[in-house]
Formats: sequence, structure tokens, C-alpha cells
Amino acid sequence: MIIITQPNATEEQIERVVERVREFGLEAHVSRGASRVIIGVVGADDSFREKPFAAMPGVEAIVPVLKPYKLASYESRGAASTVEICGVSIGGDSAVALICGPCSVESREQLLSIARIVKDAGARILRGGAFKPRTSPYSFQGLREDGLRFLADARNETGLPVITEIMDARDLPIVERYADCLQIGARNMQNFSLLKEVGRSHLPVLLKRGFSATINEFIMSAEYILSEGNMNVLLCERGIRTFETATRYTLDLNAVPILKAKTHLPVVVDPTHGVGLRAFIPQMSLAAVAAGADAIMMEVHDSPDVAKSDGEQALTPDMLHKLVPRLRAVANAVGRDL
Ligand code: PEP
Ligand code: MN
Repeated sequence: MIIITQPNATEEQIERVVERVREFGLEAHVSRGASRVIIGVVGADDSFREKPFAAMPGVEAIVPVLKPYKLASYESRGAASTVEICGVSIGGDSAVALICGPCSVESREQLLSIARIVKDAGARILRGGAFKPRTSPYSFQGLREDGLRFLADARNETGLPVITEIMDARDLPIVERYADCLQIGARNMQNFSLLKEVGRSHLPVLLKRGFSATINEFIMSAEYILSEGNMNVLLCERGIRTFETATRYTLDLNAVPILKAKTHLPVVVDPTHGVGLRAFIPQMSLAAVAAGADAIMMEVHDSPDVAKSDGEQALTPDMLHKLVPRLRAVANAVGRDL
């Protein structure tokens, strides 16, 4: 249920509505727009009685939300939301942001070198995994706290905010100490206890779509984070598993306009994992911007042949440099900056 206030509703009137919602044992999530305030009512809907609210001073309308995702739904805000990562805005009318960096943080030198390269090419955010979700327990698992420290060093040197994956809720305090944005990987999209934990973090969360998850399941996972109070959630399409084996996964670009219609959350596309083959990532990143992506995440490595993970899908620095002006041209063609 959403309560929409009148344009001239006073703060006292809004506060009274919020108190009333709480008296029903329900939660009130207040979103402030340019002229109106929208109060999202979350909880057991059958205990909610519409009439006493419709008559309250300052209330214009009560709109039922029939979707199971109440806080993520577009209607709950009535506009696309933006998420700020240390001054970089993603979503709404903001410029399309590039999030680039290696798959894994491998050493201080490796990360600093790649950080300088991606910054120079136009990236706004640096990515790099310190805790790696690998299919085999014998593969490189990440540098853990050392990796986080190197990310913080790279941020200090380049000014780029950093995003890194968290795999285990027990690591949250340490990851929060170093990172500017938390990443939940595809394999953890339905790790509900982890989602609740990051829902209580002060950091924004980039949530990747599970490779066997439907769009509705993906949005419900975002709802877990939102329902704990963290409203800074980015949805990231990163490819799903289909019968096709020519590429690592199948990048589902249908998801971009659909997520933007169903939710108010910014949508990020990761063509790197979705395609898995370096040669075809530029084309799919261009398509993602054309489809309306608010940010593009891509892996970049200066020595991909010796990368400790995902070398075959990392763009070379030269490829990234050549790609950025083309991404900008497509962004401009669809009315966005980059
Ligand atoms: C990654 O971004 O490094 C990663 C492991 O991605 P995903 O969770 O999408 O596989
Ligand atoms: Mn990777």
C-alpha cells in the first residue's frame, strides 16, 4: 500500500500519517519527491484499513501495491532513483557510469596499474574482488584483507571509489572498513541471511542476478535488502544460463527495460561475465547502453594471459580506450551522457 500526500501537506501531517501506520504494527518508508511525499506501507496488508488514512489531513490518495516487491516497485517511488557512490551518481538522468577493474585483486602493483589505466580511460568506479567465489576450492580464492587494503590504496591514489564482493556476512565489518560499495555475486543472490545483513549496512549494494534466477526472483532479492532499510541498491544483469554454449552465459538485455519498468532501482549491466569472451564484450556493452543501462561493469587487465581469474574475458587497456568514445556516442544517442 502506498500513501500519496497532497503537494502542500505539512511535516506535521506527514508525521501523523507515519505514526498512524506504525500504530497498525506496519512499517512506513518515506520517499520525498519534488512536490509530494510517498509513504510506502510494508507489513501484513490484511491488518491495514484504508479508510482511516484516506481521511487524514494531507493525504491525497491510497494506492494498493499488488506486487510482492513493495519497496522495489516503480510505483513505490513514482520515479527512477539514483544511488550515490562517493559522489558518483548512478541512475535517473545521471551519466552512464563505467565500473572497471580486474576480476581479482592480485597484488598492490597489479591493482594500482589497472586502476590508473581505467581511470585514464574514463571509468568512474574501480572494481576488484578480494573474496572470490570460485567454482573450485583449489582455484585462487582472493587476497582477502590484503586485497581490501590494496583497493583502499588504489582509491587514495586515483580518487576512484571502490566496489568489491562480500561472500560471507561475517566479513561485513572488515569489508565496510575499506569499500565504498558492496557487491553481492550471482551465486549469493538468494543467500537471504547475507542480503539481510547488507540491508543493514550504510554502504550501497550492487546485487548481481543469479544465473538461474527469474527477473521476479531477482527483484525479490533486492526487496530483502531494501526491507532492512538500505535503499541504495543497484541491480546488475550479468548473464543467465541457457542452452547456448557458444558464450559463457547469455546476457539477458531484455532485463534492462523490464527492470526499469518494474522497479525504480538503477540497472547495471556486466557484459564481461555475460559473454565471457573478450572479443565480443565491446559490442554487448554498446547494446547495454542502448538498452538503457545506468552503468556498465567490465573486467580489465593489463596482463590478461597471467591473470589469476577470468583472464580470457578481461578487456585489454587498448580495447577499453577504443571502446569508451563509442559507448559515449551510444549514450548520447539515447539521451544520456557518459
Ligand atoms: C565478479 O564480478 O567478479 C563475479 C564473480 O561475478 P558474478 O557473481 O556475476 O559471477
Ligand atoms: Mn570475474
